[in-house]
Amino acid sequence: MHRMEPCNTPACQSAREIFHELEEIYDEHNLYFQTIGSVLEAANILDVPHRLKLILTQPKNEIMVHCPVEMDDGSWQLFKGYRVQHNNVLGPYKGGIRYHPEVKLDEVKTLALLMTMKCALARLPFGGAKGALRIDPRAVSKDELMRVTRRLTSALGDNIGPDYDIPAPDVGTNAQVMAWMADTYINFAESSSKVTARGVVTGKPLEFGGSVGREKATGQGLVYVLDALLPGMNIELDKVSCSLIGYGNVGSWTARLLQQRGTTLKAVMDHTGAILNEAGIDAEALAEHVKTTGGVHGFADATAINNETFYSTPVDLFIPAALEQMVDLEHAERMQCKVLVEGANAPTTPRAERYLLEKGVEVLPAILCNAGGVTVSYFEWKQNRQSETWDEELVDERLKKIMTRSAERVLKMSKRLNCNMRIASYASAIEHIDKVYELRGVFP
Ligand code: NAD
Repeated sequence: MHRMEPCNTPACQSAREIFHELEEIYDEHNLYFQTIGSVLEAANILDVPHRLKLILTQPKNEIMVHCPVEMDDGSWQLFKGYRVQHNNVLGPYKGGIRYHPEVKLDEVKTLALLMTMKCALARLPFGGAKGALRIDPRAVSKDELMRVTRRLTSALGDNIGPDYDIPAPDVGTNAQVMAWMADTYINFAESSSKVTARGVVTGKPLEFGGSVGREKATGQGLVYVLDALLPGMNIELDKVSCSLIGYGNVGSWTARLLQQRGTTLKAVMDHTGAILNEAGIDAEALAEHVKTTGGVHGFADATAINNETFYSTPVDLFIPAALEQMVDLEHAERMQCKVLVEGANAPTTPRAERYLLEKGVEVLPAILCNAGGVTVSYFEWKQNRQSETWDEELVDERLKKIMTRSAERVLKMSKRLNCNMRIASYASAIEHIDKVYELRGVFP
């Protein structure tokens, strides 16, 4: 398909039809339009009731708040925050909070929709949500970050809660930010519910109700998915090479865990630049370097390369683990890999995906590959409710079971519907959601 031609894939056509019906304006380059398009394509193949397609096309709630915060120098800044609650038919809303200076509502809507799909595919008792704050967390002091986090939490008020909507870390937030959110929420909680109130967020520090294994969970889950699916493609983890976009939580843990399995890390790109070592980059040493310098730039045991060279470096596994839409058609035309493993949410544009699939590259979708994070978040929420502390063995064993079952579910659905893995992952999620709507009915 030429870059300038209007998109006439089944995904685009499905989205266009529903957007017309809802009298919504659309743009085929818009991330939400692209993502809902693939979801609706899966819904059309399954032939689910039309009402379900209408329900899934729009989030239930889109909350916007503005947080005035005094900075260290006495000046004031106003920060815009979002919480999008996409669907809660399976249970309380669940999804991360992102701090990024360029975050937009449609990006948050997309991530909330993906959370609905992700929780449904893994059969977790959660719905989907996502939040964001327009801030560059690297450009403010620790005190400023704490004040804006507390202000955001109080602005969200009753829109979050351990039985209603449970945030977690995402890009630009971490366990410390979650600790401030939980502390603020607990201060406002009724005295009778203070004990369970810290379950308002997951991804907390271990000492304050966090779960063992949460930090590495997304990378660990991704490795379990590869364990389940690569043998069927005749690929062995200890004989392959990989490259990574992003060396934050997801990227660095994926790299370290794959290194333990004998995989060679050839190239990494992040917001500071790209590096290459054909003989292999030491994932642990790179994690130390990123911790002290803030990025992969300047890592001694690798050569600095430009972005073009990064994308065209031949590898078996290409793993985007940074932001959305970082693999577009131009990148895809350069890439030389066997499998694209989506660590990040929505990293591949539909045109890039179509090109790669036609070239014979397998694309493993984000809602399967990166579900380890929300799965261990679910374990943390469960432990908080039951005042329990699980050990790492138990967390890993249960995580492996859920990730393996999800991977098998997607494989089975792709055979049943004769479709690619992304459509199969959405179909499995939608079929589950459809059954629950059948049982519950749509109020009133
Ligand atoms: P993070 O903030 O820890 O790391 C983000 C990484 O992206 C950093 O290495 C940064 O350098 C890189 N990056 C930012 N802008 C870039 C650019 N322009 N070019 C190249 N690299 C760039 O975030 P994270 O938690 O690792 O999340 C990464 C992705 O994984 C996101 O899509 C997130 O939604 C998704 N995800 C995260 C989790 C989790 O548990 N943290 C769970 C599921 C999905």
